[in-house]
Amino acid sequence: MEIEKNLAPLDALRLSFRDMDEYADYRHEHKAQLAAIWQYQAALGNQEKPFTLNGFCEVCNSATKFYARPVTRLDDPSNFHVKWASLRCKCGLSARERRVASLVPIGKNASIYHVGHFSNLAKYFLDNHPNVTTSQFKEGYKSGFIDNEGVRYEDLTQLSFPESSFDFIICTEVLEHIPSYEAGLREAKRCLRESGAAIFTFPWLGGNHFKHRVRAELTDDGQIHHHLPPSYHGDPASPEGILCFRDFGWEILDELRANGFRDAFAYFMFNPLLGYMTLNEPVIIAKK
Ligand SMILES: [Zn+2]
Repeated sequence: MEIEKNLAPLDALRLSFRDMDEYADYRHEHKAQLAAIWQYQAALGNQEKPFTLNGFCEVCNSATKFYARPVTRLDDPSNFHVKWASLRCKCGLSARERRVASLVPIGKNASIYHVGHFSNLAKYFLDNHPNVTTSQFKEGYKSGFIDNEGVRYEDLTQLSFPESSFDFIICTEVLEHIPSYEAGLREAKRCLRESGAAIFTFPWLGGNHFKHRVRAELTDDGQIHHHLPPSYHGDPASPEGILCFRDFGWEILDELRANGFRDAFAYFMFNPLLGYMTLNEPVIIAKK
């Protein structure tokens, strides 16, 4: 049986930060507010039983229940918490996916490239926007190849699309699996139209972590060298999961600008009513 919980009356926030110092200043000036959010999350999520939250989904545009499934860490099986990015609406989209989906306006006929074909978010874009391309990555498959089922294959570091093909490129939970992810940033920038935007999510170190945390590297002879215990993420295209090469720090914003984007920022959305329960899960937006 699921417990139903109520939402606390905390102010909704939408915050953009262009570097770690801006973020640190904000944290310094809003200590009490951030502590309240932290306590709220812990009071709500640090428990064993699954629960639901009443709220509103701005993507399926209806009153809804959000489903929370507390999990434990492998090294601490007694410590239950909710991964709030996974807080799922009845429409199937997680909080992470809803945040991204909400940033792309419906009805503008924008051309959208969603990196990945099998996720709920890919399906959402295909069902709700008229001009969407999706693709899947598979080792050994050439960019641009389309299989018998109509699935297109692309390597983000070597896209087959001409320059200036898209208004939006959506790339969620992909970069951390690409050893040479900077080539992917360059390709995203090349394939965007002027004033287009790339929208990324990936494991975010947050706080005062500037440098990425390199978990694994590909050596010159093609071997994987692990710096940390291997972490495999769920992948709708492969049951065994997919290796995470790095968790990202604030330096990604500098890298996006260095690779040709005119603007790049971390965008934080906190709004319990909409099921956006933390300030620790930014969407990274890069504008051409
Ligand atoms: Zn929904």
